Amino acid sequence: MQKRPSVAVVGGGIGGLFAANALIAQGLDVAVYEQAPALGEVGAGVFLTPNSVRQLQRVGLGPAVELRGARVGVESRYFRHDGTPIAPVQVTDSSGWNATFGMHRADLIELLADGLPAGVVHTGHRCMGFSQTADVARVSFGNGATAEAEIVIATDGIHSELRQYVTPPSRPVFHGSVAYRGVLPHRRIPHWPADAWLMWLGKGKHFLTFPVRAGELINYVGFVPADEEMKESWSAPGDPDVLRREFAGWDPRIGALLAEVQSTFRWALYDREPLPSWSRGRLTLLGDAAHPMLPHLGQGANQSIEDGMALATILARANPATAPAALLAYERLRRERVALVQRGARENGLRYDSANPDLGVRDAELKAHAAFRRRLYDHDVVPEAEAAAATL
Ligand SMILES: Cc1cc2nc3c(=O)[nH]c(=O)nc-3n(C[C@H](O)[C@H](O)[C@H](O)COP(=O)(O)OP(=O)(O)OC[C@H]3O[C@@H](n4cnc5c(N)ncnc54)[C@H](O)[C@@H]3O)c2cc1C
Repeated sequence: MQKRPSVAVVGGGIGGLFAANALIAQGLDVAVYEQAPALGEVGAGVFLTPNSVRQLQRVGLGPAVELRGARVGVESRYFRHDGTPIAPVQVTDSSGWNATFGMHRADLIELLADGLPAGVVHTGHRCMGFSQTADVARVSFGNGATAEAEIVIATDGIHSELRQYVTPPSRPVFHGSVAYRGVLPHRRIPHWPADAWLMWLGKGKHFLTFPVRAGELINYVGFVPADEEMKESWSAPGDPDVLRREFAGWDPRIGALLAEVQSTFRWALYDREPLPSWSRGRLTLLGDAAHPMLPHLGQGANQSIEDGMALATILARANPATAPAALLAYERLRRERVALVQRGARENGLRYDSANPDLGVRDAELKAHAAFRRRLYDHDVVPEAEAAAATL
């Protein structure tokens, strides 16, 4: 068997840890470097959809997702702000396969880390520098350590340190709103459905809930317009009373849920225009480092999982000499789909915030949007990655 390239993954978030699982499943030698002293995630949910669950299954993590996630079902709905139902939410792909799961972010990180052999993840390694020759890439860390590999994958998020070694600096785009996020024990709101994704849409705001951790917790997200201070802080503790005021007068069910919130966190919403390139030599970008997107299609993490599977499938057919060409093949394969999803997330945000004053048109668009969701969820990145790898 030909020698496969060795890989260093910088960033131990969802994108980096999934990529490591996929690369190891293909027999590659991988090390992950994470800046934080321990792996972890914020106390909020993430929604997984069939296009990524398919890939989690392929690396053997399907049962863990089923056990630790919360599958949402056909009761999932969009509502107007006052609780008037608008449309069902698409929860399956075109074949009728329901693999849409709410997950606590910390649970997802833990199950991805549990999938890796001991010694693969190195915490406390903040990447501070990068260089490469024709044969090898080198990463240096704030703790004085260095690492060499034939491929470096930057999965270090929207503020990526490594992006500057691929493409000239550019500013992220602020979208004028923040998301308040948190989770509540289901026992505190026992009448809340533990198997449904529910969203209420009002003027300039929207409110979302879905269950996580097998329905033990309900994740909520309130999207509201931002002020200048919120824009600059990126993420900060939020005031539950401010959150309650933002949704006063909406469906009383929201008021009842928010009455239970004791602490919350808020995120300013940024994305980027599609980058001109993702790879240079032996370095490539993946996940939010390559394509941060608005959360209005719930696809940032799902697309990072698709990225990881595409890259692993292609690198499995590469050797140290062809590795840079393999990175370009990965980038060519992924850029168009991800740009489509980035644009789709912006458009859906306008829909969710009722930008069209004719709510009848907005409601009709939401109903029609199920077809877009089905196409998104039907996608399997592996066959096309295998075809791309065959051209190396
Ligand atoms: C409000 C909101 C809701 C969302 N909901 C969803 C959803 O339902 N579904 C979905 O698919 N997506 C969702 N997303 C998007 C999703 O969270 C991101 O796309 C996803 O987490 C990106 O993963 P990542 O691994 O690329 O980056 P990150 O999760 O940002 O991970 C980057 C990692 O790199 C580490 N790191 C950073 N710099 C360095 C360095 N210099 N050296 C070493 N390590 C470093 C960080 O500590 C971190 O662990 C949502 C986003 C927001 C804001």
